[in-house]
Amino acid sequence: MTKQLDGLMQNDFQLSVHHIRRALRANRPEATVATLVQPDVVERTTFAQTADRVDRLARVLGRLGIEQGDRVGTFAWNNQRHFELYFAIPCVGAVLHTLNIRLFEEQLTYIVGHAEDKVIFVDDSLVPALEKLAPSLGTVRNYVVMGDGEAGSLPNALRYEELMEEVGEGGFDYPEIDERQAAALCYTSGTTGNPKGVLYSHRSISLHSTATMFRDGLGLSRGDKVLAVVPMFHANAWGLPHGAALAGADLVLPDRHLGAAPLAGLIGSEGPTLMGCVPTIFSDLLRFADEHPSVDLSSLTNATCGGSAVPRQLMKEYEERHRVNIFQAWGMTETSPVATFCRPLERTAEGPREHDDAYWDERAKQGRPLPWVELRLIDDDGREVPWDGESTGEIQVRGPWIAKRYFREEGDTEKFDGEWLRTGDIAAVDEHANVQISDRAKDVIKSGGEWISSVELENELMAHPDVVEAAVIAKPDERWAERPLCCVVLRESCDTSADDLVEHLRPRVAKWWLPDEFAFVEEIPKTSVGKFDKKVLRSRLAEGALEGRVLVS
Ligand code: AMP
Repeated sequence: MTKQLDGLMQNDFQLSVHHIRRALRANRPEATVATLVQPDVVERTTFAQTADRVDRLARVLGRLGIEQGDRVGTFAWNNQRHFELYFAIPCVGAVLHTLNIRLFEEQLTYIVGHAEDKVIFVDDSLVPALEKLAPSLGTVRNYVVMGDGEAGSLPNALRYEELMEEVGEGGFDYPEIDERQAAALCYTSGTTGNPKGVLYSHRSISLHSTATMFRDGLGLSRGDKVLAVVPMFHANAWGLPHGAALAGADLVLPDRHLGAAPLAGLIGSEGPTLMGCVPTIFSDLLRFADEHPSVDLSSLTNATCGGSAVPRQLMKEYEERHRVNIFQAWGMTETSPVATFCRPLERTAEGPREHDDAYWDERAKQGRPLPWVELRLIDDDGREVPWDGESTGEIQVRGPWIAKRYFREEGDTEKFDGEWLRTGDIAAVDEHANVQISDRAKDVIKSGGEWISSVELENELMAHPDVVEAAVIAKPDERWAERPLCCVVLRESCDTSADDLVEHLRPRVAKWWLPDEFAFVEEIPKTSVGKFDKKVLRSRLAEGALEGRVLVS
């Protein structure tokens, strides 16, 4: 047997967040983090100052008794302190657990308990939302309030700036990190059942951050100013904070000011070149800019949109009316999240490419897999589907920043097929490897970037005495990307209305889950094994053949 000959490179150099942290000082120490602390007040620090504060924060974590592997929660907007936590927590060997502030109370309680968070860092503006839950968060020893606002009834509350003051200035002796160690944790509710924890490693974050700089991907560079609107509690804000640190790009963070007016003001005053957010925010901003001719968005030469399908018209209108380029990315919490990116070639052999219909057809797709991401399409019979631009199958992906299992869900095999992640997204891929998503196999609806469980809505509806059957499907929506449409079979000769059903749901689900439309049908189509056949309902909806549709008044 021949013996393996090892390469003589520094194969043991660990790909860890330490390197990204060191880049804060080494790359462009003068780069700035600008946080919109009030609708018209921006606070600024440099990367060098941030690195100093990260060292202090690392010492604070030690004082709080945080040890290797401990989970430390954050309940925060996109701002300077959250950015500091992004580095200090993983670099002391603990796990940054970003809590989605928009989840329901029961989901948050479940997640904090499942992760066993020891400490939660909370923005003062979010204390009222968290204090209600605190009595049910048994694993949490301390809450650390960020900002000058009240700590409310949070037990064992400490204050961020006081702790930073107490530990004083000076460096920190960081532990060595094995690149396989967990660095961050983010739960997704985009599955059925309880939310699932995606546990990112130092290695996956390092490689995904590097990928933010691929020119055929987000294309982040040292010359960029990055406005991260996508929440830092959602899949590491698409890698933008780490990517900006690694590249030496300036960072702009909107905190809680996510309305079109403050965002337009921030874009006008800071002049970001790159911005990442979901289509809903881009369309609000477009409407605002159209109504206020003084708004100037033209600094955004390289914006990224994703989280839901990005309407072609939205990208086109931005380009034609505001000279803003928005490129589409696809991915999910489980894929760190960026897996494909759509950046069509701008030149042909004959010269610059015209932005004609064919070009826009391509721009409307989800794009090509990034280097290191491998993708295949699998049909219902488990066979691989050809890349012919027409045949569809479920997207499965593998690669160094793709999840291989959920946290503490050993037996979960449904989402993973060997080394492949089953995404639940149905797509066709053309011969140039461009992915086009057409449907979702999963029973979930994505509204304004957040998940609505159709199963839960169905259960609540079927708990109504007059409802015989209920199947909830996603209806395309210009503003929210998708909204729930409830197909309901009522008991014979009852006069329950759509409004009655909404009143029934109101105390049972989050406000933004409440449907705006029902379809009262004679029966719900079923599959051969008697399950609701939502594919049939979806195609009836698409063909305009879904009977009995009424809007909620
Ligand atoms: P999340 O884990 O919450 O980030 O959601 C991931 C899901 O969002 C994917 O599985 C898709 O269903 C959907 N998604 C993300 N980006 C896109 C996109 N560009 N086009 C269509 N759907 C998308």
